[in-house]
Amino acid sequence: MNRYSRLLVCSDDFCAVSLLLMTEKRQFRAVKGTRDILPPHSALWNWFEQSARETLQSYNFREIRLPIFEETALFARAVGADTDIVGKEMFTFLDPFDRYERQLKFLDEELPKLDMAAQDLQKYLRDFSRKLEDLPEGDSISLRPEATASVARAYIEHGMQTLPGNQKLYYVGPMFRRERPQKGRYRQFYQIGAEVLGQSDRPAIDAEVLEMLLVLFRRAALKDTTLYVNSIGCQECRGQYVELLRRELQKIRDNPATAGKLGPDSQRRIETNPLRVLDSKLPEEQPVIEKLPRISDHLCAACRQHFAELKEELTLRQIPYKENWRLVRGLDYYTRTTFEVTATGLGSQNAVCGGGRYDGLVELLGGPAGVKGIGFAIGTDRAILSIQESGNVPRLPGLSVFIARMGAKAYPLAVNVAGKLRARGLAVELPPQEMKFGKALGLADKLGASYALIIGDEEVSSGTFTLKRLADAQQKKLNENELLEYLESERRGSGA
Ligand code: AMP
Repeated sequence: MNRYSRLLVCSDDFCAVSLLLMTEKRQFRAVKGTRDILPPHSALWNWFEQSARETLQSYNFREIRLPIFEETALFARAVGADTDIVGKEMFTFLDPFDRYERQLKFLDEELPKLDMAAQDLQKYLRDFSRKLEDLPEGDSISLRPEATASVARAYIEHGMQTLPGNQKLYYVGPMFRRERPQKGRYRQFYQIGAEVLGQSDRPAIDAEVLEMLLVLFRRAALKDTTLYVNSIGCQECRGQYVELLRRELQKIRDNPATAGKLGPDSQRRIETNPLRVLDSKLPEEQPVIEKLPRISDHLCAACRQHFAELKEELTLRQIPYKENWRLVRGLDYYTRTTFEVTATGLGSQNAVCGGGRYDGLVELLGGPAGVKGIGFAIGTDRAILSIQESGNVPRLPGLSVFIARMGAKAYPLAVNVAGKLRARGLAVELPPQEMKFGKALGLADKLGASYALIIGDEEVSSGTFTLKRLADAQQKKLNENELLEYLESERRGSGA
């Protein structure tokens, strides 16, 4: 804090009142649409994310770490100002830092002028407050609602087109959308995404991305996944198709016999984004939508061939898929291949992953021409929910050893052996206080430990340890070496 910060941070009555309210004593809860992921649940998240990292790395994808907020204009340009995500769902605010910096600069320039006659001071102060208010607002920034735009921004900013080969990047982290929370839909949610950026748009790239996705879902034991694919054409043929679709939708809207068949959202989208009408899930709109012209009948020759080759590649890789002509995805940047994966147990929010090709995005964001791209984002919250709902939760390693000790001499021995076990990768709980053995074993059981290591007077004098397996109460007497080796081989055997 510098000398002006108090003045600026709390410069008006509103701020003072709201700060008072904020310090009121009460119990706090996580904000609606956000949640805490607690242990042991968090272990499943770590396992899923680790499986994803390993799978992605096996396809030579490397991690990119991105900022959580970006300029609002980046999302408006990349995702599209007409989309729900940008139009309604972003957490956007003016960057107070910019304004604050400007205010400080202004004060530094102005305050030395205060040495003036009293009669001038009144006028000076009036001008001063007007000029202070007239300082420009800060820049508009938004919490990221998705990360493809950031990856493309970083690609351009760091000149990654000059690096050899395609850039195969992945990210893991939270996204933010101001949606109405429901099962599988949060305002802070998590994605694992992958992007390939480079000069080539070969369908083999699309197919490899899809193969990798399904390898991960298989590895993570996601049940009943279905891959849907579509091609929405390039700027050329897609543009013509969108116009055709708009004309057809206008006819439906303008015909008194069918006018009522489209709801207000679809009516609005006829002008703003007709492709989005195909996304509609409203039951009453389905009969008219089903009769609309289909993009597959309007692809140009190059796009038709790209899609046909992609399907051949999928067959070659034995990847089952279904075509879905209505899969247009909500974002503006997609071209040609679009896809989505659904999984079991998710109710209406059953998409665990969405993605597609975005060949013009880098250029659209002011980057070099000719860079192609394809990527996906997995919704981690939904993937985890699906694993849980299908009852396929893997047995994950928890607490291995609880140390039960009695007697002053047992303590240094317990500290020493705990250190050695931890160094071998075992999770060890050494309670800070001595407990009667019965109580200690009860606690070990409640904590879900696999073993209790008992160290009492007898163990100290004989130089052995008593190891009790809690699942069947079997006990062994082992010296230190035997103990370390036995527990380490158990850990390896359990895959922990
Ligand atoms: P999108 O970026 O909209 O293509 O979404 C990609 C994936 O992220 C979806 O298939 C969902 O699994 C997940 N997702 C999107 N929005 C949310 C949300 N509000 N809450 C939880 N998961 C979401």
